[in-house]
Amino acid sequence: MPYDPKNIFAKILRGELSCQKVHETPHALAFHDIRPQAPIHVLVIPKGEFTSYIDFCRMASNEEMDGFWRAVGDTAKKIGADSGGYRLIVNSGVNAHQEVPHFHVHILGGRTLGAMLSQQ
Ligand code: AMP
Repeated sequence: MPYDPKNIFAKILRGELSCQKVHETPHALAFHDIRPQAPIHVLVIPKGEFTSYIDFCRMASNEEMDGFWRAVGDTAKKIGADSGGYRLIVNSGVNAHQEVPHFHVHILGGRTLGAMLSQQ
């Protein structure tokens, strides 16, 4: 799928939409999810134009990969998710119900999260 520069996260990266920023590096931006599903719910997105994780794996340079995943770990630490543990979720593509077509990682924590997948 070609990258759609009109997606919500592209607008956040360009500063056209605001976000509650928690961390930023040359490779990544982290901000609070607008509809949190746990006491801690932060999204980390790469600054490059990647539609999904599938796309990121195909196209990202080693530097972008390294910079992005380090930023995920650093963000989790910065928001205090390290102490109790946390879950990373990446919805990638149609089967995973990815809503926003810009690769993002959810960091969820702050409470016991229960079973990994719903039974639906
Ligand atoms: P996904 O289903 O993995 O694509 O998740 C997209 C996530 O983006 C959802 O958890 C939404 O609540 C979140 N979201 C959508 N718009 C915004 C926004 N403007 N700021 C922060 N989070 C958003």
